[in-house]
Amino acid sequence: MSEKIILTGDRPTGRLHIGHFAGSLRRRVELQNASDYKQMFVFIADAQALTDNMENPEKVRQNVIEVALDYLACGLDPEKVTLFIQSQIPELCELTFYYLDLVTVSRLQRNPTVKTEIAMRGFEQSMPVGFFTYPVSQAADITAFRATTVPVGEDQKPMIEQTCEIVRRFNHIYGETLVEPAIMLPDNAACLRLPGTDGKAKMSKSLGNCIYLSDTADEVWQKIRSMYTDPTHLRVDDPGHLEGNTVFTYLDAFSKAEDFAAYWPEYENLDALKAHYTRGGLGDMKVKKFLNEIMQETLSPIRERRKAWQKDIPAVYDILRRGTQQARAVAAKTLDDVRHAMKINYFDDVELIAEQSKRFSEAD
Ligand code: ATP
Ligand code: MG
Repeated sequence: MSEKIILTGDRPTGRLHIGHFAGSLRRRVELQNASDYKQMFVFIADAQALTDNMENPEKVRQNVIEVALDYLACGLDPEKVTLFIQSQIPELCELTFYYLDLVTVSRLQRNPTVKTEIAMRGFEQSMPVGFFTYPVSQAADITAFRATTVPVGEDQKPMIEQTCEIVRRFNHIYGETLVEPAIMLPDNAACLRLPGTDGKAKMSKSLGNCIYLSDTADEVWQKIRSMYTDPTHLRVDDPGHLEGNTVFTYLDAFSKAEDFAAYWPEYENLDALKAHYTRGGLGDMKVKKFLNEIMQETLSPIRERRKAWQKDIPAVYDILRRGTQQARAVAAKTLDDVRHAMKINYFDDVELIAEQSKRFSEAD
């Protein structure tokens, strides 16, 4: 059996979108179905979501169930994967508190993802400390479960690096205790950081440029229809450009060899389609219709499964409650080891009182 312990999470700041699917979710379901792991944890990072949504707790609360539904809709199986809610595991806060001592302010300031996110949220002048330190709390999430493997999008690379540094520093000071995780990026370059429908660098819940997994068939088509392509491709005969052309990036991310035979047999494969587009003579709308066929085929089973789970919301909360209980037991065990390594396990240390008694009696 594989020794992999897999862990990933998502912030409940909105429903999940096809960027999540391409960057991480699709991989999680594949790993689950291949049974290529010892344990797998998937969690809803509500405490992290509050670091930049502290004034909007209702938004976070509403989206916890949305994200849980998206997980189940994509095929994550609660019998195989432990699904849990971050804030319900107080051990994570305690780990974070100790890890904060192992990281410098200047190191956190250098994190490129946090830099981008600070700019996006207008936190340059006044930033909540909790937001600034969220990469440290993420290290607690990962290490609490001794995760070896973290399947995420490229934006998470600096976070995993930060976690590895904390692990190394902890183990160096306090002795071998924590496990260093490895990032698992998508194999497909287009999925590393899927752009938004507006052509912006990243599809992100916070930017409103998303195709959601739960969008209706019509919403998906409307979004594809108005998607950003190539602004210089004005007439059908104009040569088109692929660079930065979101429709083609999505085709790179989602199309399969079979899709051509099924929906557009005029072209043998994506290369042939791209060649025609760059040569000129192929209109954007035709390519968008093809993309729509592919997205509908990908999303319709997800949409159907979501509808089925929506009929039994208490069961979904029950899955989260049971998963959280299981996860908490695992985190508590790691925290015991951490306290032991840091020598703050006073009441579990049977020899401590005897040792101190001896020390003070000798001092007499
Ligand atoms: P927010 O704007 O609130 O940060 P988000 O859309 O960035 O939301 P997260 O919950 O931060 O979503 O990310 C969850 C996971 O999905 C991470 O592993 C992240 O790498 C991946 N992910 C998010 N957006 C994309 C994207 N556009 N392309 C590829 N992976 C992505
Ligand atoms: Mg994000």
